[in-house]
Amino acid sequence: MELEILGSGTSHGVPVIGCTCPVCTSQDPKNNRMRTSALIRTDSGKTCIIDVGPEFRIQALRSKITSIDAVLITHSHADHIHGLDDLRVFTRDIPMPVYAESSCIQDIKYRFSYAFRNTARGGGKPHFNLIPIPCSSFAHSSFNSKPITICGIEVLPIPVYHGKLCVLGWRIENTAYITDCSQIPESSYKLLEGTKTLILGALRLRPHTTHFNFPQALEVSNRIGAKNTYLIHLCHDFSHQEICEWLASNAAGKKIEPAYDGLRITIQ
Ligand SMILES: [Zn+2]
Ligand SMILES: [Zn+2]
Ligand SMILES: [Zn+2]
Repeated sequence: MELEILGSGTSHGVPVIGCTCPVCTSQDPKNNRMRTSALIRTDSGKTCIIDVGPEFRIQALRSKITSIDAVLITHSHADHIHGLDDLRVFTRDIPMPVYAESSCIQDIKYRFSYAFRNTARGGGKPHFNLIPIPCSSFAHSSFNSKPITICGIEVLPIPVYHGKLCVLGWRIENTAYITDCSQIPESSYKLLEGTKTLILGALRLRPHTTHFNFPQALEVSNRIGAKNTYLIHLCHDFSHQEICEWLASNAAGKKIEPAYDGLRITIQ
């Protein structure tokens, strides 16, 4: 089973519109970061996508995606769900199962209200089967996350904080995917025990109120004890090469690297 990084960039993507900084004008494809999203290909040939950002159509064409069997949503910010309409090509016969936290489902219904109205057949709209993950009380240590079976694989929702917002990470076997996050509650660290591969949002070196920065991401990776860590949701402050250099000086001996669009990671 493998996970492909479809996008490794922060909410505005890199290059940023109108920006002439060295990263945004770089010719290195690793500095071209579409909005953060990932595709899981299971051993039985099923495909499951985590988040569907505004560049989904371009990402799907680039990665030659020909089918999607299920969608996992981390949260409802625009950079994570505004490509949902483009799933319509995959929902002609069966509504797309979309797994998300309950309040996120409400946001999807509001943002894509036209998709839930009765219209004539062939109306050019996507069909969703929204499946809520009950996480409203996850701030309490009593929260008990249960694995769900999607595409024949077990997936465990990992509740985390994105500023004050409660969002979901996802664990598949010993690989965990946590994008926009600024704090992991103790109860979720328990759910992450044994994680070997961590894909973690880390915006930049400077602090941010709703995202981990690089030093915080290192702390999280060390605490979880992941063997391999890949940083996602990267902004334009640093090039791929500069992040590698920063990590070489600040995380010596650890296998932590910036992800890039198209990177394929074996799920273990
Ligand atoms: Zn985001
Ligand atoms: Zn820039
Ligand atoms: Zn966000």
